[in-house]
Amino acid sequence: MDAVAVVAPEEELNLHRIARIQFDQVRPYLREIDDYEGLADFLFRPERLVEVVLPVLMDDGAIATFTGYRVLHSSIRGPGKGGIRFHPNVDQDEVQALAFWMTMKCALVYVPFGGAKGGVQCDPHALSLNEKSRLTRRFIAALGETIGPYTDIPAPDVYTDAQTMAWIYDTFEMMHPGDNNKPVVTGKPLELGGSPGREAATAQGCLYATEHFLELGGLPGMTGLSGVTVAIQGFGNAGRNAARLFANAGAVIVGVSDSQGGIYEPTGMPLAAVEHHKDTTGSVIDFPGTKSLEHQEVLELPCDILIPAALENQITLQNVDRIDTRLVVEAANGPITPAADRVLADRGIHILPDILANAGGVVVSYYEWVQNLENHQWDEHEVLDKLRTKMRRATEKVVLSRAALSETYEEAAAAHIERHGAGREVPPPDLRIAAYVVAVELTARSALQRGIWP
Ligand code: NAD
Repeated sequence: MDAVAVVAPEEELNLHRIARIQFDQVRPYLREIDDYEGLADFLFRPERLVEVVLPVLMDDGAIATFTGYRVLHSSIRGPGKGGIRFHPNVDQDEVQALAFWMTMKCALVYVPFGGAKGGVQCDPHALSLNEKSRLTRRFIAALGETIGPYTDIPAPDVYTDAQTMAWIYDTFEMMHPGDNNKPVVTGKPLELGGSPGREAATAQGCLYATEHFLELGGLPGMTGLSGVTVAIQGFGNAGRNAARLFANAGAVIVGVSDSQGGIYEPTGMPLAAVEHHKDTTGSVIDFPGTKSLEHQEVLELPCDILIPAALENQITLQNVDRIDTRLVVEAANGPITPAADRVLADRGIHILPDILANAGGVVVSYYEWVQNLENHQWDEHEVLDKLRTKMRRATEKVVLSRAALSETYEEAAAAHIERHGAGREVPPPDLRIAAYVVAVELTARSALQRGIWP
C-alpha cells in the first residue's frame, strides 16, 4: 500500500495550491516582484500543460487506457528538466507542483535549466516489465515534440528508473534518426550514456547539503554525522542510497520503511543485510532482530535527523506534534504541508527544504546532459567533486539568505500588512522561505533581463 496522508480538515493538501502558498511566502521579502504588476502570476503559472491518452496492449490481450501528463513550468532559465513518475496519484495538479519545484530547484543550485515534470497515472506494481515498456514507449510517442534535448528533458522519479530512461531514449531515437539524441533524457544506464554518480546523486546531494549545514553551525552541538541517529521513510532510489551514504559517513540508521511498513532498531541496523533482505523479499519489513512499524511510525521515531524519501504530504497537522527529531532533510518532494511547516518551525525543528536537499539528482542530470552533448564520459570522482561544490554553495546561499531575511523581518512583515491588510500572517523566515527567495529572485531577474515578448 502506498502512502495515504491522514489530515486535519483545515489543512491544504492540494499540491498545486501548496506550491502557490510557498511561492507567496517569499513576496514580503522580495518586494521587487510586486513592483511589476502581474510578474508573480507569470512566474508561478506553468508555460505548457500536456495531457495524453495512452492505449496499451496488456499481456492478456486486453487494451488498458492510461492518462499521461507533461508540464513545462518554465523555460526562462533554460530547457525544462524534470522526472517522470508512474503512480496512481499522478494528476495534473501534482505534476504542476512538481514542475514548479523543479524550476525553483534548478535556480537554487544554479544549473541552466527551467522546470518540468511528467507522470502517468497507473499502478506500476500491477504492470509486467513488458507492459511498463509499452506504456513508456506509447507515452513518449504521444508526447512527440513536447520533449527534446534542447526543450524539455525527462529523468527518473517515483517508480521509474534507469531501465525506463533507456526505453525513453530508444523511443525518441527511433523517432529522430540521425541526431545525437542521448541528451533527451537523463538517468540512463551507464552503457547508454548515463553519468557515473547519477544513480545515487539525489542521496549524495542530501548528504553533502546536510554535512555542510552542520559544519555551518545549523544544529548547535552537532558538527558532523558521526554517531548521529537517522530515520528514513522510503527505501527506493533516494531513501536506500541515503541510508547507505549516511551510514558510511558515520550516522546510525535507527529506522527505515517502504510501502509495506517499517523497521526500528535504536542501536542501528546492518544496512548491507537490510538491503539484501529487501532485494530477496521485496520489502524491509520482517528484517530479523528489528521492531516492526506501521507505515507512518517511522516518521515519529526519536532521532537526530529524519529523512522523508517517499511521497508528498507525509508530515501534516495530524502527526506533526509527534515528530521527534532536530532536523528534517527533505529527500522527497513536498513531504511536509505548509501548516506542519509552521508547527515544526515553532518547535525549533529545522527543515532542509526539498528544493535544496534533493537537488543532487538534477545537478548530476545536468552533468549527464553536458557529457552527452560532448559525447564524453567523466570519471565518477569528477562528477562527485562538482556535485559537492554545487551543493555546498547552494547550502551556503540558503543559510546566508535566511540570516539576511531575519534582519529585515520586521520591515518585511510591515510591508506585507500594508499591501495585503492585517489578516494574513507573515511567517518568519525559515530555511524554506530563504531558499525560495534565492530561487525566485534569480528566476525573476532572468525573466526581466530577457524581457516580456513581444
Ligand atoms: P522510488 O520509486 O525509487 O522509491 C520510492 C520509495 O518509496 C519505495 O521504496 C516505496 O516503497 C516507498 N514508499 C511508497 N509509499 C511509502 C510509504 N507510505 N511509506 C514508506 N515508504 C513508501 O522513488 P525515488 O526516486 O526514491 O523518489 C522518492 C522521492 O524522492 C520522491 O518524492 C521523488 O520525487 C524524490 N526525488 C527523487 C529523485 C530521483 O533522482 N530519483 C530526485 C529528486 C527527488
